[in-house]
Amino acid sequence: MTAFARFLKSLFLLELFKGLSVTGRYFFARKFTLQYPEEKTPLSPRFRGLHALRRYPNGEERCIACKLCEAICPALAITIEAEERADGTRRTTRYDIDLTKCIFCGFCEESCPVDSIVETHIFEYHGEERGDLYMTKDRLLAVGDKYEAQIAAARKQDAPYR
Ligand code: SF4
Ligand code: SF4
Repeated sequence: MTAFARFLKSLFLLELFKGLSVTGRYFFARKFTLQYPEEKTPLSPRFRGLHALRRYPNGEERCIACKLCEAICPALAITIEAEERADGTRRTTRYDIDLTKCIFCGFCEESCPVDSIVETHIFEYHGEERGDLYMTKDRLLAVGDKYEAQIAAARKQDAPYR
């Protein structure tokens, strides 16, 4: 480009108008951004989020302490201790999931023979300290209790929930 052409371009602010034309084009185009958290992106029915331990409708824990989930967990994130109860059934005395190790592969959920440990569609959680992401049995049961209706419905319909 000659010096004269460059002079004309800068005199008539051609680069500026070129840039503004791009801005104008995208100003009226369909927006790709969402106003999170008011607006949310679609969630797959197979999304794997925060873990929960479920109970039967009578309040009994589903988990029979078979430890299949602990054995299959590739991240060694699950720790289970168990003992026999007075009625002869086995139940966990400790069931912890360290979410800082978990890779959300879903193997624990798939291995469970009684549909006890599940991964919910909850992803809006955080921890400010490492311990906040250490899910103890009580915390896992509390998540299960709170969202049982949605978990049960989603497992029937394979539909996402929030
Ligand atoms: S989702 Fe995978 S990594 Fe996380 S606790 Fe379950 S089996 Fe382990
Ligand atoms: S959550 Fe399921 S797989 Fe894990 S110990 Fe309990 S019954 Fe077994």
